[in-house]
Amino acid sequence: MNSQIEELKSFINNSNYTIVITGAGVSVSSGIGDVEHWHLPTVLQMSSEIILKTMPKRYYKAAWNSFLEPIFNNGATVTHRKLAELENEGKIQGIITTNIDHLHSIAGSKNVAEIQGSFAVNKCLKCGKQYNDINIWNKGKTPRCECGGVIGAFPIYAHVGQLRTEAEKARRWVELAELIIIIGANGSYYWSYGNHINKNAKIESQKEFPQEQELKDKQRKLDSINAELKINDDDHEILGDEQEEKDDKNKGKNSPERC
Ligand SMILES: [Zn+2]
Repeated sequence: MNSQIEELKSFINNSNYTIVITGAGVSVSSGIGDVEHWHLPTVLQMSSEIILKTMPKRYYKAAWNSFLEPIFNNGATVTHRKLAELENEGKIQGIITTNIDHLHSIAGSKNVAEIQGSFAVNKCLKCGKQYNDINIWNKGKTPRCECGGVIGAFPIYAHVGQLRTEAEKARRWVELAELIIIIGANGSYYWSYGNHINKNAKIESQKEFPQEQELKDKQRKLDSINAELKINDDDHEILGDEQEEKDDKNKGKNSPERC
């Protein structure tokens, strides 16, 4: 990765406005899996408001294993840190990411558009109070509001959606960009800002990005996940919330366990 970063630096030195687009690839070495390779049940558990509300322990365990443990125990990767350094030197003007791990900000980047939300964009699912601090997820259990309601991160209450304010920010940036660098991204949510990219911008990518058919396939996959979520949200029984209550009585543990 270091040699790639060095190569990118030379492109960056010739640009007055550089935007970096990142995806799951930049977080893999911190232990966070690529969403493309997740099992549907994990995606469902991580994205379901009803699971969060009725089975907060099961929810936390899924979130801890797939995201929170890597975030809090491993933290930002060398790529996140290098990008933060480049931004600090004035060489990068913004980072657009589909990642919900908040690791760019943890690494010190200031201008980050988290277009799919993150664990730092939270609200109480009962009263709506906002809690925009990722550290509320590092207390061993699903965070609760002072009103008693469970707190959910944006990807949960949006059902794998895009955060409008962040997508608008991303559009403004790509309109101004002279150079766009794509790292570890597969084209998810490209549709939300792709049409706004400055026609004269130089685009540097590790691979061809993105193919129209590939984008359509990904959107279809997201749609099917969302359709599945809506079915499950209407049917509490198949989610086994009664089982969790029984399990709780037997175990009485608070800390998350590995699957
Ligand atoms: Zn509340």
